Amino acid sequence: MGKNFKEEVLSRRTFAIISHPDAGKTTLTEKLLLFGGAIRDAGTVKAKKTGKFATSDWMEIEKQRGISVTSSVMQFDYDGFRVNILDTPGHQDFSEDTYRTLMAVDSAVMIIDSAKGIEEQTLKLFKVCRMRGIPIFTFINKLDRQGKSPLELLAELEEVLGIESYPMNWPIGMGKEFLGIYDRFNKRVEQFRVSDEDRFIPISNEGEIPDGHPLTSSGLYEQTLDEILLLNEAGNEFSVEKVAAGSLTPVFFGSALTNFGVQTFLESYLKFAPAPIARNSSIGEIDPLGDQFSGFVFKIQANMNPAHRDRIAFVRICSGKFERGMTVNVPRLAKQIKLSQSTSFMAEERNTVDEAVSGDIIGLYDTGTYQIGDTLTTGKDNFQFEKLPQFTPELYVRVSAKNVMKQKSFYKGIQQLVQEGAIQLYKTIKTDDYLLGAVGQLQFEVFEHRMRNEYNSEVLMERMGSKIARWIEGDTIDENLSSSRSLLVKDRYGHYVFLFENDFALRWFQEKNPNVKLYNPMDQH
Ligand code: GDP
Repeated sequence: MGKNFKEEVLSRRTFAIISHPDAGKTTLTEKLLLFGGAIRDAGTVKAKKTGKFATSDWMEIEKQRGISVTSSVMQFDYDGFRVNILDTPGHQDFSEDTYRTLMAVDSAVMIIDSAKGIEEQTLKLFKVCRMRGIPIFTFINKLDRQGKSPLELLAELEEVLGIESYPMNWPIGMGKEFLGIYDRFNKRVEQFRVSDEDRFIPISNEGEIPDGHPLTSSGLYEQTLDEILLLNEAGNEFSVEKVAAGSLTPVFFGSALTNFGVQTFLESYLKFAPAPIARNSSIGEIDPLGDQFSGFVFKIQANMNPAHRDRIAFVRICSGKFERGMTVNVPRLAKQIKLSQSTSFMAEERNTVDEAVSGDIIGLYDTGTYQIGDTLTTGKDNFQFEKLPQFTPELYVRVSAKNVMKQKSFYKGIQQLVQEGAIQLYKTIKTDDYLLGAVGQLQFEVFEHRMRNEYNSEVLMERMGSKIARWIEGDTIDENLSSSRSLLVKDRYGHYVFLFENDFALRWFQEKNPNVKLYNPMDQH
């Protein structure tokens, strides 16, 4: 029996994994896909990462650039749910698109390496999730290795991220002495590296296990019970409302590599993670269960191959049902567009999708029609979704046209790429130099490539390195405060921004100029 539309929508769980490189995102994703039967062999996701699966032009590009297009969205079914995992590229592929992907999900899974704790990229991605108030589920990974103590890790969550936590389970030992997890939620102990039949031991409310069980012989279980007592007395209470509001994160301990604790994690996640949530628009909240199709473009993947000018626009469906061949309005363009056979779905295999509902992601082949943030709708209501936020760049270059005779194509290209959201533009005060800002190096490379191939403009880029950008409150500022260590520029809307050389320069400036109120738009929420 097929599901009706409402049941289809309510079965969707759309999330992204936020983590620092090497915490285990690929490994966990792979295990989740295995549970869902979406892949048959472990190693598939990994192979894609290194580009061994080159079977099409697109994949060839991925291989050349190491950009993963195909694995941008992975989908699998589990226990009546349809799960969409959106990839958040890190390392050299880190870009504003990584942040924007978080605008398209309903929840996030944060993986932390138990030996490392909270790392830089996790913190950045966490802040963006926080800004949206989406539920965050934490998986503390690599318990099969010696790491920080679980209490220390919880304290880090609260201190560094400022989020309350509730451990759903608790490790019994770790590293060489890792015996398993005490599952507070399901009232059982799950043993590590023990055959399936003996894996689970039911426990009493007080955590008692059957007399004479080998676990009791080690002092580790006693220690776990003491810690559980401490958590029961002094820890946070579990609250479904707080989880939904993103102010309390359920925490799971496990080991993705050995597939330990992953299934329990998945099942609890599916239970507490939200189905597609309503989104704000110019006419109020859009109900995901509404009939009228709507969605927005959250990412545009530029094709790096000069032989192909096309790109893929990723659309998050926010209401209604997508059907191949349907006609949609794009209010920004005041234009109707038929979503024909060029529409494709990003699953494990690149399939053509015929139908998709709220919560799903579709990829549209694009020859330059769409911009990031575009709304697509059907029906009479011509609304637009809330604008996507701007993310504060960290890397800057000074840019100019190599050939002064070709200024026109240079300005046209910059203007269009900036508008599309590929990169951010700033101008220096007085000298009007063009500066570009990005959150990841890849954005500059894509910019340079597209300027050459789409606008026939060779650019010169002079690296300025990383800067700390702070906007100022109010529109007036003494322009003489600009210096090489605190460079004053204007953003594309004409607002003043200081680019500080480093944290020290920022603090020094603040001490000297207490009247200048500085802020980072990403900390405003
Ligand atoms: P990603 O960069 O976050 O995608 O990380 P990967 O999934 O590629 O994992 C990074 C490394 O950590 C790989 O060598 C994995 O085999 C290893 N790893 C992942 N999960 C675990 C785990 O649970 N235990 C141990 N010991 N190693 C793990």
